[in-house]
Amino acid sequence: MAELRKQVKEDLTYYVSPQLSTYPHLRHAYFTRLGGVSQGIYESLNFRFTGTDARENILKNYDIAAHLLGSDANHVVRTTQTHTDNVVAITEKTTEFTSVGDGVDALITDVPGVVLTGFYADCQLIFLYDHKHKAIGVVHAGWRGVYQEIVRKAIEKMHEMYGSNPYEMIAVVGPSICRSCFVTDEDVPDKMRTIFGDMVQEYMYQQGSKWCVDLKNITYTMLLRTGIPAINIDISNLCPCCGDKALWWSHRRLGEDRGVHAGMIMLAE
Ligand SMILES: [Zn+2]
Repeated sequence: MAELRKQVKEDLTYYVSPQLSTYPHLRHAYFTRLGGVSQGIYESLNFRFTGTDARENILKNYDIAAHLLGSDANHVVRTTQTHTDNVVAITEKTTEFTSVGDGVDALITDVPGVVLTGFYADCQLIFLYDHKHKAIGVVHAGWRGVYQEIVRKAIEKMHEMYGSNPYEMIAVVGPSICRSCFVTDEDVPDKMRTIFGDMVQEYMYQQGSKWCVDLKNITYTMLLRTGIPAINIDISNLCPCCGDKALWWSHRRLGEDRGVHAGMIMLAE
């Protein structure tokens, strides 16, 4: 398990996985607030269309981010995530900005030049890479995604479509809410126990009438269960909620008055 590495390039500040960075044909980044053109509460690298930010600014932000990966907004394929367990495979390179489906929280592809894009502002955004079959995935998982095991489902779909084997995969969990900040009612631990059994008990603790749930460790354990080797998993300790406010939006800290961060991953052509 390694922490992500902070990078600064011109106005952009973003994070990369040390492991994924060793593959020259693979491009990826977890973006922060810095380096975009949006203003006010969306300042500045906002990717969220559902607020009041100007569409032209948001599209410009997509372009700025995709350029870092050596592409542009016309090759972006983005999730329309609504906390589902829907996984969609992208089978050809697009030539215009594309939003997939109505409620799709994971995208996979083996097509070079497709900029897979997902979003986060506390939730986990997970990159998957099968280095043998050259296939990638991006998975959005908040606590609902975790208990619906969307990351396992994405890995299974990569196995089905590309022959991916977990022991040849790398998984990266980006900046996401920490166990001190993720304070919940009884319903979240109950659901976690239903799916994962006693295994998750040590990752949840009571504080008064509330529960603190360590989603990072639950995801880590789930990734190990799928067969991904421990050494192939990078998990960020960064938390948008209690971390640097200049870098992060947090749904828990800010409610709806905020932008959203993107993570992008692409196989270079
Ligand atoms: Zn935190």
